[in-house]
Amino acid sequence: MSHQDSPIIRRESSRIYVGDVPIGDGAPIAVQSMTNTRTTDVEKTVAQIHALERVGVDIVRVSIPTMDAAEAFKFIKQQSKVPLIADIHFDYRIALKVADYGVDCLRINPGNIGNESRIRAVVDCAKDKNIPIRIGVNSGSLEKDIQEKYGEPTPQAIVESAMRHVDILDRFNFDQFKVSVKASDVFTAVKAYRLLAKQIKQPLHLGITEAGGVRSGAIKSAIGLGLLLTEGIGDTLRVSLAADPTEEVKVGFDILKSLRIRSRGINFIACPTCSRQEFDVINTVNILEQRLEDIITPMDVSIIGCVVNGPGEALASTMGVAGGHSKSGFYEDGVRIGRIDNESMIDELEAKIRAKALILKNRIATTEL
Ligand code: SF4
Repeated sequence: MSHQDSPIIRRESSRIYVGDVPIGDGAPIAVQSMTNTRTTDVEKTVAQIHALERVGVDIVRVSIPTMDAAEAFKFIKQQSKVPLIADIHFDYRIALKVADYGVDCLRINPGNIGNESRIRAVVDCAKDKNIPIRIGVNSGSLEKDIQEKYGEPTPQAIVESAMRHVDILDRFNFDQFKVSVKASDVFTAVKAYRLLAKQIKQPLHLGITEAGGVRSGAIKSAIGLGLLLTEGIGDTLRVSLAADPTEEVKVGFDILKSLRIRSRGINFIACPTCSRQEFDVINTVNILEQRLEDIITPMDVSIIGCVVNGPGEALASTMGVAGGHSKSGFYEDGVRIGRIDNESMIDELEAKIRAKALILKNRIATTEL
């Protein structure tokens, strides 16, 4: 298999649109994140959304806990390029307000809004304005009666809670929604998503909630989301990290890249290094990863310390180096085309990768014409 192929067959689902981002029915899996600034601080929240846009986020969720936050949302929305989801708990009037201000999706659980007339007001508004809804159930906040019935947040308990909200939207004849059933325990979340995937046709938003810091959270998310994605389950995802939200986006894309589901930017292939390495592989990869963060064109770059695995990986990559004494073999599109001085490798590779990314970008643009 080349670096480009993914053997994954996606679960069939219906399609919704969050702004102009398609979700489900074979659309690229969207990477989401969430702001963690105070929403009433418009300047800081917009700055964070712009930082997320720079690392390629597809959709951003913003908490709207109060009417003041809803008023701030108006100005945040005006200054954002990516679609925004408003995260609302309980207060249906906030949902109506942000709908007026152009929100692209409402994260609100219909069962928590209150009486039928309030639910109808939100659903009618969503229908009128073509705004989808995300039902989001978390293992930590299940309804009291479900907690009592199951004793603990089992996958069945989480799915029962989600289906209550789904049934309400069904009753109101509203099918433009996606659902998440998050848990902080990987096995619980995976089982819940597997169960839910069999019960509804709508897209699923994946996440392991409260996953942890950058390292532990990335690993938990990669295992949990990886298991589901390899089974074809999942149409959007968020990697929840106790970290800067841009890290969530980078890890999200890394998970998709690792599974060959969606490529964005450079997929580095690097050896773990050993005493055979002919140049400092770790330093080279770390510096290039940072310097080339802005590249969004998908390409594989292999940085391998010696000729044991270097040529093999380079042949299957867009660009690659195989470590050699003072100079390393340089490969492009699977062909060895020369050698690079190990001393100036980082700068030379950066320049070559940037030039190649530009060529590939133009090629993709021409094909799409
Ligand atoms: Fe060591 Fe070479 Fe393998 Fe890298 S490719 S780990 S340098 S033997």
